[in-house]
Amino acid sequence: MPRIEIKDAISRTYDYVIIGGGTAGLVLAARLTETADLSVLVLEAGEENLNDPVLMKLGQFAMIFGQKQYEWCAKTVPQPHAANTVIPWPRGRLLGGSSAVNFTVWNKPAREDFDAWEKLGNEGWNWDRFNKYIERAITYTPPDLSAAEHARRGTPEVLKALWAKGKEGNGPVKVSHPPVPVAPAPLNGNPNGIVLGAMAVDPETRERSFAGNAYWKPSSERPNLHLLTGVIAHRLVTKEVDGELLATGVEFSHKDSSGNVCIAKASREVILSAGDIMTPQILELSGIGRPDVLQSVGIPVKLALDGVGENVQDHVNSTIVVELNENAPDLTFDVLRHPGEAEKHLALFAQGEGLHNMGIHTYIYAPISTFSDRAPEIIANTQKEIERGIAAGKYNPGVIDQYRIVLENMKNVPNCEIIAYPTLITMAPAYLTDDTREGPTPDSLLSRAALRAYRSHFVNKYANANLFDSVELTDTRMDQYE
Ligand SMILES: Cc1cc2nc3c(=O)[nH]c(=O)nc-3n(C[C@H](O)[C@H](O)[C@H](O)COP(=O)(O)OP(=O)(O)OC[C@H]3O[C@@H](n4cnc5c(N)ncnc54)[C@H](O)[C@@H]3O)c2cc1C
Repeated sequence: MPRIEIKDAISRTYDYVIIGGGTAGLVLAARLTETADLSVLVLEAGEENLNDPVLMKLGQFAMIFGQKQYEWCAKTVPQPHAANTVIPWPRGRLLGGSSAVNFTVWNKPAREDFDAWEKLGNEGWNWDRFNKYIERAITYTPPDLSAAEHARRGTPEVLKALWAKGKEGNGPVKVSHPPVPVAPAPLNGNPNGIVLGAMAVDPETRERSFAGNAYWKPSSERPNLHLLTGVIAHRLVTKEVDGELLATGVEFSHKDSSGNVCIAKASREVILSAGDIMTPQILELSGIGRPDVLQSVGIPVKLALDGVGENVQDHVNSTIVVELNENAPDLTFDVLRHPGEAEKHLALFAQGEGLHNMGIHTYIYAPISTFSDRAPEIIANTQKEIERGIAAGKYNPGVIDQYRIVLENMKNVPNCEIIAYPTLITMAPAYLTDDTREGPTPDSLLSRAALRAYRSHFVNKYANANLFDSVELTDTRMDQYE
């Protein structure tokens, strides 16, 4: 019986205790318990949600934002370089972690990005090994589209054929493609160019394929794999052995432990896979981190490690909204805000049709020089900024090495991603007020802020030009988001 009572979990010692039943945690749990005489306990803060339609039906990507049963609802502090905006920072809080709430995009970064890890001194952390193991994780089914669909959607082959097309016609209007190549090897280390992306979606069921149903479900009946959900891991239990700090267990509280602190014991290893925000937090709460940070909040230092909780990097998402002509043939996810339409598309999904079959699959990956004439200036300014920081002693040596590689890669390695998708995905409405957190808001897919900006931009700019007479800028759709 893999789901275990808390009293049983704390009464024994496991070989491995894994903090975080997310993407990495569940893969590790499944792989380790292939060896029948190894025992594993997984401690996960969220709950199991394997059949939740909000997660499994793809048209609803953004419905999870700001909802505590799906995500941690983390936010940044005000960002001085973004007009002091507080930016939502979602991370999955359920069995399967962020793989249960992500956008299912199955693309891979450039080879150089992974090789950089090895250059920084992490032997074996390179593209070849990454690719070997990521390939092991998947079964890839190529698209099976009609010729008409191929032409419409533009697979790499079709786009290549288009590019090879000779010059045709003699009219005055010039029609051409942007100067962006078709990506030569999007899933093989060179995504530079236009990519028709794959998704982590089961081709039979058209549902999300993620750590929960791919790794947990098939191994969940193993007697050597135990799971506790509704757990908050506080810190590692450690002791000193021959001058080294050894983790022997995890201190946690559980929804059923009435506030009492429990200990899960590990004889071999504690694996910390609580994601990029919580993992360093748990280390710091365990006394592992920057001494000045720990001391400032009264945590006794057990191991001074300067890198913990530092140097966080994430990609930002900025959106350009384009309203479709009403006669455009394609539907957008926005229609799912209407209860009638939402029901209709659930019914259509059962027949293999409708919006829940769609996803995010059209991308361009390219270095900044592809998009901006100012690329040399931007790179030079970044370099100056970094050199200034180095001179001022702002960075530790590891970060300096990392920045040097980043600067080099900025020149030619794809580091910008342009995604075209048929809706506006933003987190703003879900985070606007506390009371919006309680349930799905009808406007989770549309941002009030973006609509406001959209309206003021067009109304103010074109008010006298009568250019947008046909677009109902002040209709009720807009007003309900004010
Ligand atoms: C909104 C969103 C969209 C994304 N879109 C894509 C995409 O389309 N394609 C793609 O490749 N990547 C995408 N990503 C990124 C990708 O999903 C993550 O990088 C990946 O899932 C992270 O895996 P992880 O194991 O490090 O962490 P997670 O999968 O987040 O797992 C961490 C787990 O630890 C648990 N946990 C945390 N703290 C504690 C604690 N104290 N006690 C107990 N449990 C705890 C969490 O609840 C969670 O289940 C997206 C991420 C997000 C958030």
